[in-house]
Amino acid sequence: MGIVFIGPPGSGKGTQAVRLSQHLDVPHLSTGDMLRAARDEHTEIGNSVHDFLVSGRLVPDPVMLELIGGRLKEADCVGGCVLDGFPRTLAQAEALDEFLSTHVGPLDVAIVLVVDEEELVTRLAGRQRADDQPDVIRRRLKVYKQQVDPIAEHYEEKGILRNVDGIGTPDEVYQRIQVSLQGVER
Ligand code: AMP
Repeated sequence: MGIVFIGPPGSGKGTQAVRLSQHLDVPHLSTGDMLRAARDEHTEIGNSVHDFLVSGRLVPDPVMLELIGGRLKEADCVGGCVLDGFPRTLAQAEALDEFLSTHVGPLDVAIVLVVDEEELVTRLAGRQRADDQPDVIRRRLKVYKQQVDPIAEHYEEKGILRNVDGIGTPDEVYQRIQVSLQGVER
């Protein structure tokens, strides 16, 4: 089962993506986590992405494709995965389609967690991450807004888009995600 999780920073997509991946027993691949780990380990990719992470700008597509392409080729991804934070550009979405069609099989669902901006700023202001400073938060939300529509449209055209209301307790949101997957699970 291949699932893409899309949501603005602070939408709770990481928490929900982990829970869903455990339920489906497939790996949870968070590109944000992978980039932060690479940065902390000072790998070549990690050193090259430091400034993007600090400023909240998107890491260039070729770097992202190298990172995620390598991970998707690993044996544990053969039965699918839950992608969290990828794709973030149309070019990434198209590259992912191509990769999956040759290696694993097409995506089953793209879930977009919908949370309004006011709620997100309040939530993010309570977190302690370096890229959760107010000006960086605003940039990350702006970057998200610019990128999400073309990606959502791409998955809408494929008939696999599910918009899920992200306001509520984590349990409530997870219930909605499960409802949105009815008829898809295999
Ligand atoms: P996240 O934890 O998903 O919010 O990602 C944290 C940061 O990692 C983002 O603000 C971007 O700088 C970078 N990042 C994560 N995923 C991607 C991606 N698919 N494309 C470009 N940059 C990314």
